[in-house]
Amino acid sequence: MSRLLIIGCGGVARVAICKCCQNSDVFTDIMIASRTKAKCDALKEELQPKTATKIETAQVDADNTQEVIGLINSWKPDAVLNVALPYQDLAIMDACVATGVHYIDTANYEAEDTEDPAWRAIYEARCRELGFTAYFDYSWQWAYQDKFKEAGITGLLGSGFDPGVTSVYAAYARKHYFDEIHYIDILDCNGGDHGYPFATNFNPEINLREVSAPGSYWEDGKWVEIEPMSIKREYDFPEVGEKDMYLLHHEEIESLAKNIPGVKRIRFFMTFGQSYLTHMKCLENVGMLRTDPVSFDGREIVPIQFLKALLPDPASLGPRTVGKTNIGCIFTGIKDGKEKTIYIYNVCDHQECYQEVGSQAVSYTTGVPAMIGAMLVVNGTWQKPGVFNVEEFDPDPYMDALNRFGLPWVVCEDPQTVA
Ligand code: NDP
Repeated sequence: MSRLLIIGCGGVARVAICKCCQNSDVFTDIMIASRTKAKCDALKEELQPKTATKIETAQVDADNTQEVIGLINSWKPDAVLNVALPYQDLAIMDACVATGVHYIDTANYEAEDTEDPAWRAIYEARCRELGFTAYFDYSWQWAYQDKFKEAGITGLLGSGFDPGVTSVYAAYARKHYFDEIHYIDILDCNGGDHGYPFATNFNPEINLREVSAPGSYWEDGKWVEIEPMSIKREYDFPEVGEKDMYLLHHEEIESLAKNIPGVKRIRFFMTFGQSYLTHMKCLENVGMLRTDPVSFDGREIVPIQFLKALLPDPASLGPRTVGKTNIGCIFTGIKDGKEKTIYIYNVCDHQECYQEVGSQAVSYTTGVPAMIGAMLVVNGTWQKPGVFNVEEFDPDPYMDALNRFGLPWVVCEDPQTVA
């Protein structure tokens, strides 16, 4: 029996909410609160007749900590699941500390305005110190460790697929297959086709910022940064086939480097088709990916936000996307003195996801783990005061839940490796 406040009502939230409604023994009451209440109401109307979970809705501006505090105090949830945008992470974490309520999210904090001088000074110092220039990093949220400890609440960071499931795979591999893991390659393949020349599978602003940033990987205790999209490999993905993939910076590299002792190298690759890359380069070259306001016709607009308004809503891709995703990790390390390699992955079919919850597989593969993270926190399995990444807990209950809630995984003990 628990009460979960879910903030955000976009593509990922829809799946997390559908999955909570399939799990009414745990989630007896949910509150869907987002910027646009009409979206929350529409989802409630669709789901309430089919579930024993009692659904309520509210309007909230999650950039405003006081508003979130007010909502928490009036509705009294056991935990808050943040599936809004990374921009809201800190405001929601502050509200959880003030009210003594557990916190779960799927993406690490990112500043909305990257030209803000106060943020920029900290960012530039971090770039020099750590050696990677992505706009997002965990330092902001890890800084809440003492506040969460003092409040006696759990902060579970990054419970999506990547980060999230990929990090739990690492903890599982370490627990059951290796004495020490030396190399981790995280491979994120979307073999789906939505039929548009260009669209992003999740929030365009967040997606394009991530993909257009320099790539980086962790090697021998330090970051190595590379030009965007400058390392390309081919991989023959089980159930999907041969795809081009590119090395990106990704947030779980940062936490796995800290939490997997003895690891020598961690890389992250994502597949992209040529059409996506050509469109993105062109948009970048003409300034449409800029995140700072520009003056247009007497008013200020942020180019990437305007672009978002032009692109297909990721939530609308569900009915038209066919094909499969394959996301997983290849681990190489030592067991009983011998080197071994295993590949743990999940394959998810876009149309099967759409039939089940009305969303494509990219939202599905994020929303299911978001619900699982929330479930393990509210039922006490993964509760300890402080702020933690998912790989810091026992992976077994999470891996069991993945099999039960629609993201079954495979362990391959003789995989193709990445050069
Ligand atoms: P969407 O843009 O589809 O949804 C975001 C939702 O948040 C919208 O409902 C939006 O409201 C709401 N929102 C935005 N700002 C506020 C605010 N200030 N107050 C209240 N609500 C707000 O994004 P996605 O569902 O695609 O992504 C959700 C999260 O999941 C993101 O943080 C993303 O980075 C993360 N993610 C994580 C992945 C992983 O594997 N770990 C993979 C994919 C995504 P409105 O409807 O009014 O716009």
